[in-house]
Amino acid sequence: MRTKRIDQPHAVASPSPIAGRRALTRVGLAVLLLAAVLVATGCVGGERPKNVIFLIGDGMGVAHVTAAKVAFGELEMERFPYGGICGTFPDGSFVTDSAASGTALATGFKTVNGAISVTPEDAVLKTALEYAEENGMATGLVVTCSITHATPAVFAAHIDDRGKNHEIAEQLTVSGVDVLFGGGAGYFTPTEAGGLRTDGQDLLSDMEERLVVVRDADEFRAMGEVDAAAFLHAKAHPGTAGDRPVSLAELSERAIEILSRDGDGFFLMIEGSQIDWAGHENDKQWLLDEMADFDEAVGVALDFAERDGRTLVVMTADHETGGLTVDQGSVPDDWLGPVDWSSESHTAAMVPVLSYGPGSAAIGGIIDNTDIGAFLIDAVGGEPRE
Ligand SMILES: [Zn+2]
Repeated sequence: MRTKRIDQPHAVASPSPIAGRRALTRVGLAVLLLAAVLVATGCVGGERPKNVIFLIGDGMGVAHVTAAKVAFGELEMERFPYGGICGTFPDGSFVTDSAASGTALATGFKTVNGAISVTPEDAVLKTALEYAEENGMATGLVVTCSITHATPAVFAAHIDDRGKNHEIAEQLTVSGVDVLFGGGAGYFTPTEAGGLRTDGQDLLSDMEERLVVVRDADEFRAMGEVDAAAFLHAKAHPGTAGDRPVSLAELSERAIEILSRDGDGFFLMIEGSQIDWAGHENDKQWLLDEMADFDEAVGVALDFAERDGRTLVVMTADHETGGLTVDQGSVPDDWLGPVDWSSESHTAAMVPVLSYGPGSAAIGGIIDNTDIGAFLIDAVGGEPRE
């Protein structure tokens, strides 16, 4: 079924057929024809969600979830009914970066480290967000890093090098993304106005033609009823969990409120970006702070999905960071002892994938990050029909 993304030349890998195969198995041979019709009409496991919320804990391995569970006792992410683990290997290397793994999650295709939703040969890979947009859904990106950083960029930009923040900002400006919350205002603002752009372009002004741009937490909270908004609350990357003016949960709640005004449904990606940076720094307290911030946003997404009844929520990570080992603590006391780290970089360890809502049972077991990309594209009705 999902053998080839027909509009993507030079694609290096095919999205996996796992999710669809499971759906067919469950439905049974007697209704194979019906299942084929369901798949052909883009239904995930036979059920098509109205909205999709995709949460990424950057660098969040199973041990990171373990650490948070031990320290906090109970996590919002425990509310997910389905789960599995996911491989993150990129094309051409063993350990992935956030660009290659993000591309796999956003498009269903593997690429090389550093590439933002393009193949190693630079061919554009269409993303779940772009398929959603094409189908009339509202779209949003909510992160705790610069909005031009690798993970948000892979959903709405296409470029060979994740370091090209200024070009990514230009692409985000002309994208149709309705909600952009994160840092990175400097990449949209000329140096004369205190930004980082030397080409004189004021992209935030350009953006104001299609969405409301707010510039600080007070403006953000006073925004009122809007259909589209950008809130870039730091020149480059925002501060750490305790230092950010607005929590990821508050940003997510507002994003959902804005996007859910669209009667055609929405696709929203929410990233706990700095879980990864705490891992790089081997900093246990920072990790727990970021995990708490991210987990609260998971709760917001699940609260909405429970109320709404037509929302698919998927949570995963792009890779593990830090080679975290948790071997000292007490579950009855909610006490996490000293932890060990075997790396200051990313590792190849598999990461968790959890899901809730219409079609969620179709993604699970031991899968690959490209399976998640293919699944999300299916969920927004974007799979090319065959
Ligand atoms: Zn990452």
